[in-house]
Amino acid sequence: MTYVPHGKHLIAGEWVAGDSTFPSEPAQGPTHDFAVGRVSDVDAAAQAAEEAFWSYGYSTREERATFLNTIADEIEARADAITEIGSQESGLPKARLQGERGRTVGQLRLFGEHILKGDYLDRRHDGALPDRQPLARPDLKMVQRPIGPVAVFGASNFPLAFSTAGGDTAAALAAGCPVIVKGHSAHPGTGEIVAEAVNAAVKKCGLHPGVSSLVQGGDRKVGAALVQHPLVKAVGFTGSLGGGRALFDLCAARPEPIPFFGELGSVNPMFLFANAMANRGEEIAEGWAASLTMGAGQFCTNPGVAVMLSGDQADRFASTMQQALADVPPQTMLTDGIAVAYRNGQKRIADTGGVQEVLTSMCDQRNATPYLYQTTAKNWIENQTLAEEVFGPLGVIVCAENADEMRQVALSLQGQLTCTLHMDEEDTEAARSLMPILERKAGRVLANGFPTGVEVSDSMVHGGPYPASTNFGATSVGTLSIRRFLRPVCYQNLPDTFVPECFS
Ligand code: NAP
Repeated sequence: MTYVPHGKHLIAGEWVAGDSTFPSEPAQGPTHDFAVGRVSDVDAAAQAAEEAFWSYGYSTREERATFLNTIADEIEARADAITEIGSQESGLPKARLQGERGRTVGQLRLFGEHILKGDYLDRRHDGALPDRQPLARPDLKMVQRPIGPVAVFGASNFPLAFSTAGGDTAAALAAGCPVIVKGHSAHPGTGEIVAEAVNAAVKKCGLHPGVSSLVQGGDRKVGAALVQHPLVKAVGFTGSLGGGRALFDLCAARPEPIPFFGELGSVNPMFLFANAMANRGEEIAEGWAASLTMGAGQFCTNPGVAVMLSGDQADRFASTMQQALADVPPQTMLTDGIAVAYRNGQKRIADTGGVQEVLTSMCDQRNATPYLYQTTAKNWIENQTLAEEVFGPLGVIVCAENADEMRQVALSLQGQLTCTLHMDEEDTEAARSLMPILERKAGRVLANGFPTGVEVSDSMVHGGPYPASTNFGATSVGTLSIRRFLRPVCYQNLPDTFVPECFS
C-alpha cells in the first residue's frame, strides 16, 4: 500500500501546516512537499509536551509498556508502506528497511519488558536510625524519576531505528518523558508515517496528545530553537560531529544548561596481530571488505582503519582487500549532501602527504564506490586528519614498524564507538597489552569480528569518549540508554504514599 505524505507537522495530536514548504529529495520515486518547521511550531510542541508530562510522567510502568507495544503494533500495521517510502527516500534496499523495522519494533517491546522489571529505577533505602549517636539518621529512599520533555534528532542512515520512533524515543517514552522529534530532512515522509503510528498509539492508549510531536525541518533554526527551548530538559541526538557539536554548544550556553546526548561519528579502528594475520589474513581482509562496504559504508560503526605490522603479510592483506573491493558495485548514498561529503573526505585522505592509493574508483554523483589507502603509523599519528571519519566505504591501512608503534597509534586515538582486536591464541599477550589503552578510548571493544551490527540488549554500550559521543557515561543503544532521561530524587522522612514507585 502506497503512502502519500501530507507534509504537515504533528503537534499535540493535530496535523499542522506551515507557511512554506521544502521538497523531499528521494533517491527514487516521487518528490513530496513538507512544511518548513517554525520556531512557533517548536514552542507549541514544547508547551504540549510539558502539559503532557504532568500525567505521562506519573503514568504506571504497565501503562507505558502497553503504549510502547501499541506503537510497535501500529508500525507493523503500516509495514509495507513504511518500507516503500523509506526505501524511496533513503535509497536503502527494501530488505534493509524491513530488517531495520524489526529492530525498531524489537527495541520498543524490549523497553516495555525492561520497565516492567523495575530494576532501572535503582531503588535504594537507608532506613531511619532514630537512636544513632551523635545524630539520628533519617529515613532515606531514592528512586530514578523522568526528567520532562526530551528532544530527539535522528540520523539519515537509520530512518527507522535512530529516528521518529527509534532508540532515543523508545528510551525517553519508557522513562516517562514526552518526546518532540525534529524530523530529518533526508526522510521526512518516513518520519511522518511513523509519527502517524505513534499518534494512533497515543489515541488508543488514551494518553495526553502532547506525549509525542514531530516538527519537520527544512530550516536549521528549528533544531536550534528546539535545543534552546526552556521546557526541553534533555536532547538525544544521532548524527554528524559538526551538527552535534553545534547543538551541544547551544545546550551548554543556555541560561539553564541541559544534557546533550550526542552520538556522533567514529573510525572504529581494528588492530590485527601477527599470528591472526599469518593464519587467516585473507579471511580477515575479505570480512573487512564486506563490512566496510555494507550499506555503502554509511554506518557509525563502520571500521575505517586497520592497524597492522608492516611486511609481507600486510602487503598480501592489502592486495586481498584491493581484489575484494574492486568487485563492489556502486551503491546509492543517503543524500546528495552525504555523497558530496564522501568525495571531500576521500580527497582529504588522498591529498595527505605520505598516503598511498591501494584502490581508487569512479562513480556517479549520488553513488559511492570504495577507496583504500595505506600509510605508515608514524604518518598517521602526525596527520590527525587521517583519523577523522569519512562517512562511506573508505578504508585506511596503517602499517606499524613494531609493537610499540602499534601502541602509539592506539594512544593517539580520539574517542571511538568501537575498537577491534583480530588475534589468535599466540597473540594473546600482545593484544592484552593494548587493552588498558583501548578501554579508555572506546565504548565497546570486540575480538575477531566486525563492529557493524549493534546488538540491542542489556549489556550493549553504543557511545564512547568524545568525539564518539558528547557524554561518555551514556549509551544510545540497549536498555541502559533509559538512564539518560532519568534523574535520581531522594525522599527523606516522607510517608510511603508520597514516594513514587513505592518500595513497600
Ligand atoms: P547530521 O547532518 O548531523 O543530521 C542529524 C540531524 O541534526 C538532522 O535533523 C539535521 O537537520 C540536524 N542538524 C545537523 N546540523 C545542525 C545544525 N547545525 N543546526 C541544527 N540542526 C542540525 O547527520 P546525518 O547526516 O543525518 O548522519 C550521518 C552521521 O551520523 C555520520 O557521521 C554517522 O557516523 C553518524 N551516526 C552516528 C551514530 C551513533 O550512534 N553514534 C549512528 C548513526 C549515524 P537537517 O534535517 O536540517 O539536516
